Amino acid sequence: MPRDKRFDILFEPVRIGPVTAPNRFYQVPHCTGMGYQLPATLAAMRGIKAEGGWGVVNTEYCSIHPSSDDVPHSFASLWDEGDVRNMAVMADAVHAHGALAGTELWHGGMRASNHLSREVPLGPSSLPASESPWQCARMDLDDIRRFRQWHRAAALRARQAGMDIVYVYAAHSYLLGQFLDREMNPRSDEYGGTLMGRARLLREVLAETRDAIGDVCGVALRIEVDNEDGAGFEERSELLASLAPMVDLFDVTIADYSQEMGGSRFVKEGSLKPRIAHVKQVTGKPVVSVGRFTSPETMLGQVTRGIVDFIGAARPSIADPFLPAKIAEGREDDIRECIGCNICYAHNGFSAAIRCTQNPAMGEEWRRGWHPERIALAKSREEVLVIGAGPAGLEAGLMLARRGHEVKIADAGAAPGGRLQWETKLPGLAEWARVRDWRLHQLSKLANVELFRESPMTAEDVLGLGVPHVVAATGSRWRKDGRGRSFRSGVASFEDPRTLSPEEVIAGAEVKGPAVVFDDDHYYVGAAIAEHLARRGLAVAYVTGAGKVAEWSAYTAEQARTHARLLELGVAVHVNTLVAGLTAGAARLRCVFSGREDEIAAECFIPVTSREGQDSLYQALKGRGLTSLSLIGDARAPGLIAHAVYAGHKLARGFGEDEVAVNRERALAPSSRHPGDFITP
Ligand code: ADP
Ligand code: SF4
Repeated sequence: MPRDKRFDILFEPVRIGPVTAPNRFYQVPHCTGMGYQLPATLAAMRGIKAEGGWGVVNTEYCSIHPSSDDVPHSFASLWDEGDVRNMAVMADAVHAHGALAGTELWHGGMRASNHLSREVPLGPSSLPASESPWQCARMDLDDIRRFRQWHRAAALRARQAGMDIVYVYAAHSYLLGQFLDREMNPRSDEYGGTLMGRARLLREVLAETRDAIGDVCGVALRIEVDNEDGAGFEERSELLASLAPMVDLFDVTIADYSQEMGGSRFVKEGSLKPRIAHVKQVTGKPVVSVGRFTSPETMLGQVTRGIVDFIGAARPSIADPFLPAKIAEGREDDIRECIGCNICYAHNGFSAAIRCTQNPAMGEEWRRGWHPERIALAKSREEVLVIGAGPAGLEAGLMLARRGHEVKIADAGAAPGGRLQWETKLPGLAEWARVRDWRLHQLSKLANVELFRESPMTAEDVLGLGVPHVVAATGSRWRKDGRGRSFRSGVASFEDPRTLSPEEVIAGAEVKGPAVVFDDDHYYVGAAIAEHLARRGLAVAYVTGAGKVAEWSAYTAEQARTHARLLELGVAVHVNTLVAGLTAGAARLRCVFSGREDEIAAECFIPVTSREGQDSLYQALKGRGLTSLSLIGDARAPGLIAHAVYAGHKLARGFGEDEVAVNRERALAPSSRHPGDFITP
């Protein structure tokens, strides 16, 4: 299909100082859990983004010197020649598709604990380093001079690695941001005082970066439009204007990271717009900003209204590396829209290569050779029955059909989607339906797949169909017996008419207050059920053995807002507490530390402890003469939606294939037999 002419403006080249981006699609720096440790994995992933049409592709935050490392989080580095060599692989992969490569030079200051380098962290004043019980050193003038030299040297290495854009990074409370901040920088010397004084170091670094590489590379500045406390908007505007002559591109954001990186539960598309709309006018320079943009119409509006020059994206480029190409080809309805779950972000916290709920190929481009848009045709066309149309079954069915197989998908439910059918009714989770809807839409384009609703399958039904290959993607159900991480064999008294599962609550079971939700899962379901009930006006108590509401969602940058939401709604929050049993009209609470027990009223009880995989159909089909039989997704091991989609995808990729080797990157020790393999500075 030809491109809609209205979108032509998104495909205009735009100058960034001495370099020119081929279009306005700009992958901002984003963490990947790969960093300097996985250069080949990283280069392949970034190269795919360029192939998919992103005109600029950046690295993640890139440490300039061992005086700042972010272990246990993954980060890029430009400390030495070995780093230059690895980063050049990424630059080459990006350049191969005509895009510009950029890197974000980073010094964490007091936000880096330096677990790896064991160097003393540095900062404008001596405050606790990150969340560690040790402090950074207050930088004296010699330290400041040395920092400037390190930054300049790293900028030169970035150019050597083939970077087209080099960032000066003064946002997200890292070192240059710390100097800008009034509270973190109480200095009385020339690097403190008013905002203009506190910005002195930033000005020096910008000037030195420009001097070092500004003839060849665009100099970008990532900076917030407000202070750490969310105030200081006017003052910051003046600062941005004063810095403009030294900057080729402003990458602007706000101080509230929980909004910038907000999950879709709390933050919708384009949320930064009202805060950053002035920057272009104030600076007269090209501007990029993010906003989890997935709608081409919204992107168009951002550019035509003069808010930004580039559509900045991290998550939309992760969920769909081919988003620009799809707009270019008039295939907007094929865009695999980000759902805002932040599972991608979570894995940087684990130092594990990035993954994505919507895009199961993310992070697997080099490791497994998966391409997000291409899948090999099967050697022979087979008939496959997929039972279950949840995330696992839909992905498996779609990818098997794309490989050319004859696919039937059967689901017991009136509508496909599996767990998404009820989970997307939880407060704020409506966007997650995109996992289902994108797959249903793609399936509707294929002639070799049929979807059967209201088709509960027994083993005899399956065998009666005579389909040789069967995939059971039959999902899971929340347990009501209390089994989970706190009570491995359950709690006998939970067997009670007052006990409901989360699915039953959303399906409309009668819930009487006071309701007690016991969250032994620590992710979103428990807190979302509590919110759902509180919004219906019920008295709700939320009980968790963890120290915070929805503790695991700290990894997805949702914990603080989830916790605040329950408090705002008047939910009684009991942390570090278990529901140890039910008694007449009450729930027995137990402190996880002291064992002390207490009772609260409970007319209804919803345990969110663990799930039971629904594998009975699979077990009944075993040994019944099928050519192949597989069990995938939550039915095999209840997990994240991302796990289910990945399981469906992996099944389809491997279907009928020999075992494929998985590439692995790791450091190689210096050896007299392989003298060239280990690179020292
Ligand atoms: P996953 O996350 O692994 O995809 P879900 O729980 O989301 O799992 O989806 C499982 C789907 O399987 C549900 O829609 C459910 O209706 C369907 N299902 C379970 N058992 C059967 C069965 N015997 N016949 C047909 N559909 C089934
Ligand atoms: Fe979007 Fe979730 Fe994928 Fe991240 S993991 S890009 S938030 S869909």
